[in-house]
Amino acid sequence: RNFDEYHLSEEITRALRVMKFEKPTEVQRKVIPKALEKSDLVVKSQTGSGKTAAFGVPVCELIEWEERKPQALILTPTRELAAQVREDITNIGRFKRIKALALYGKEPFSKQKEELKQKTHVVVGTPGRVMDHIERGTLDVAKITHLVIDEADEMLNMGFIDDVEAIVKQLPSNRVTMVFSATLPKDVESLCHKYMNDPINIER
Ligand code: AMP
Repeated sequence: RNFDEYHLSEEITRALRVMKFEKPTEVQRKVIPKALEKSDLVVKSQTGSGKTAAFGVPVCELIEWEERKPQALILTPTRELAAQVREDITNIGRFKRIKALALYGKEPFSKQKEELKQKTHVVVGTPGRVMDHIERGTLDVAKITHLVIDEADEMLNMGFIDDVEAIVKQLPSNRVTMVFSATLPKDVESLCHKYMNDPINIER
């Protein structure tokens, strides 16, 4: 099995080739086709499983390059993960010229504000700083069609639940939501139940 069966665009296929991703990992095989059909997904997955490309490939495939406002929002519990995911998205989307931006604390708000004035397809960030940008009107979420919550259990452990909920409430309701989590404790499940649309559960 290889990536051909997903009928991805030439730009994404070429990027996967350059990255030397020849075969999809198990989580990618389960997630990519469902995500391309725009189903809401709750995915139990560990770091190292290839989960970033599992959401990164369909998100990059479905991005419309011409749209100026951000179309995908990816929330992560830490700055390090936000930076890593931004880099992976940039690599997957390189031949489609997808612009991904990371937003996290400890970096000047004003610099991020300037960057957000440029065309941005994908925003990756930690909940506090993302919420700040939404509240101050520097991040426009009106065209968000994809929300990814990465490492949801960590996010809740770190006390970000209120920020995550506040962000989710601002997003268009006709979006697709994907939640990735190593474990599925009750609070993650209830968050999913509250804000997702008949999600499909994927157990790696
Ligand atoms: P992740 O679980 O997303 O952190 O990915 C773990 C590592 O696997 C990263 O270094 C990825 O670049 C790599 N990786 C992800 N998907 C594939 C694939 N289909 N083929 C080869 N390497 C991959």
